[in-house]
Amino acid sequence: MNKMILIIEDNRLNYKLLADFLTVHGYTTKNLHRGLNVVSCVHEWRPFLILLDIQLPDISGFDVMELLKQDPFSATIPVIAVTACVHAEEQHLAKDKGFHGYMTKPVDMNAMLSIVNSFADAGQDVSSHHGIKL
Ligand code: MN
Repeated sequence: MNKMILIIEDNRLNYKLLADFLTVHGYTTKNLHRGLNVVSCVHEWRPFLILLDIQLPDISGFDVMELLKQDPFSATIPVIAVTACVHAEEQHLAKDKGFHGYMTKPVDMNAMLSIVNSFADAGQDVSSHHGIKL
């Protein structure tokens, strides 16, 4: 089973907290600090899930999502927004942009684990997945 999760997060401590936690629970992680090269990295690492910080140094998480959607392979991978922003507008925008979930920081680790587990169980067939509500 594919256990690879790509975490796009520019804050090293935030990344390490998530990566250590997910590793303890049997996953492997890769990290990108910026968004621009996301598609080539997704082709190389083939994650089953992407956790995407919305506030990145180069382009926004919404722009990252656009890049992912333009590529036939990366477009199939579910993406969870992870953001410090709690505005309802951003959450609605995330839904419009095709995110599969939305989590606010500080991340509730138990909630994160259940989301990650549900996508791992669903495998690549995201069309069969109905467990996550925006
Ligand atoms: Mn950030």
